[in-house]
Amino acid sequence: MIDSPYWNPKNETMPREELKRLQLFKLKRLIEWAYERVPFHRRRFDAAGFQPDQLKSLDDLRRIPTMTRDDWVTAQTEKPLWGDLIATEPRNAIRYHLTSGSTGRQPLRALDSTKDWEWISEMWSYGSWGFGVRPDDVVYFAFGYGSFIGFWGAHYACEKIGALVVPGGAQTTERRIEQILELGVTTVYSTPTYALRLWQEAVEMGIDLAKSKVERVIVSGEPAGSIPAMKRQLEHGWGAKCGDTAGMTEIGTIFTFECSEQPGGTHIIEDHMYEEVMNPASGEPAPYGELGERVVTSFGRGFIPLIRYRSGDIVMRVPHNTCKCGRTSDIYDGGIRGRWDDMKLIRGTNVYPRAVESIIREYDSIDEFQIYVWRDENNIRDEITVRIELKPDQQAEWEEVRERLGKDLAAAHEGLRFNLELMPQGSLPRYELKAKRLVDARPQAGGLQG
Ligand SMILES: [Zn+2]
Repeated sequence: MIDSPYWNPKNETMPREELKRLQLFKLKRLIEWAYERVPFHRRRFDAAGFQPDQLKSLDDLRRIPTMTRDDWVTAQTEKPLWGDLIATEPRNAIRYHLTSGSTGRQPLRALDSTKDWEWISEMWSYGSWGFGVRPDDVVYFAFGYGSFIGFWGAHYACEKIGALVVPGGAQTTERRIEQILELGVTTVYSTPTYALRLWQEAVEMGIDLAKSKVERVIVSGEPAGSIPAMKRQLEHGWGAKCGDTAGMTEIGTIFTFECSEQPGGTHIIEDHMYEEVMNPASGEPAPYGELGERVVTSFGRGFIPLIRYRSGDIVMRVPHNTCKCGRTSDIYDGGIRGRWDDMKLIRGTNVYPRAVESIIREYDSIDEFQIYVWRDENNIRDEITVRIELKPDQQAEWEEVRERLGKDLAAAHEGLRFNLELMPQGSLPRYELKAKRLVDARPQAGGLQG
C-alpha cells in the first residue's frame, strides 16, 4: 500500500460505469435508511409523492426536492436541539459539532456515531494520502480543536495513516512556528489564510520556512486554496507543495481533494458522495465546463443523512481525465470558486469576492485586504472599495499598486470602477478560520453584514 498513490486503489480507479453502479447501490441504501429512520426526509419524500422503491437510476434522485441550510435550521428551531433530522436517539452519538457561524447566521448542530467518525476520517484519508502524507510524516495541525469540525477528521486520518500527529491547539502563532521547526514537521494543515499568516509571522521572526522540513501544506476551509496566485505565494513562502481540499460541517468531512499531480482542481470523492452541479436559476443539471451550484448527497453519515443539499458553492465540473493521476473521479476545476450568496451586484455588474481576491493575490506587495461595499450619502449609488494594507517594506509601491490594480479590477468587471484605499499597517482584521473579507454596508442589505 505504501507504494500506491491511492488510499483506496480499487474505488479510486474504478471504471466510471462501475462507479455509477456502486453509487446507485449506496444511494438506494441511503434513501431507504432515511425514509425509515428520519422523519424530516420521510415528510419531504411523501410531500413530493416519492417512495424509495421508485429509485431505479441515479437520475431518479432528482424526483426528491433539494434541501437547504434554512430547512436544517428551521427543523432545529422548531424542535430543539436536533429537529427531526436524526436517524437514532441522541444517546447513540459520540460527538457534537456545530458550524462556525462566522457569517452571523444561526449555527447548525450535528451529531455523529462511531461509524460516522470512521467514515469522516476515511474521507480525509483519501485526500491526505492522495496528496502524499505517509507513515513517516510529522503532521502539524494549526487548528484550534473547538466545536467547529474543521480539521478534526484530518487529525484522525493522519493517525490512521500512521503519521506522527501534532495537535497545534490553542497557541500563539509564534509558538506554533517554533513547534513546527522543533519537531521537524513535514506536513501542515491549516486554512489558506492562516498558512499565509504563519509564513508572514515567521518572516518577522527572521525564520525562513522554505528552509524547514515542511514539504506540503494542506489547506481547507476557504475557497482560496485553489486560487493560483495564493497557491504560488504559499508554495514559495513555505518551499512546499500546497494542496487544496474542501469540506463542510453538513457532511462532517471533505468531499473533494487535490491529488499530488495538482491538476488545477480537486477530485470529487465519488464513491462516497453523489454530487450534482445545478444551474441555480433553472434547477437543471449544468454540463461539464459550466458554472453551477453544488448539490450534495453523501453516503456516509448515518446519524444525519444528507440528501440533495444545496451547498451554495460555485463549481465547474470537468471530466476525470483532465488529470493524469489515474483516478476516475471527476474534478472541480479551480476547486470551490466561491459562494452564490457572496455575489454582489454593483451598478449592474456581478462581483464575486473570489474573483477580486484572485486579482489582488497577484500583487506580492499586498499584505491584507477587505472588500467594502457601500452606498453614497444620497442613498443612490452603490460603491465598492478595496481597502489595502501593503507589506511594511513595500509602502513606496502604493501609487503603482493603486494605478495597476484599479485597471486590473475594472478590466475583469466590465469597466466597473473600484475605489482603492491604503490602510495603516495592522488595521484590517486577520483571520485564523474562515476569512471574511467582504463587508456589505448598504442599507438595503439589512445593515452591516460581516
Ligand atoms: Zn489526479
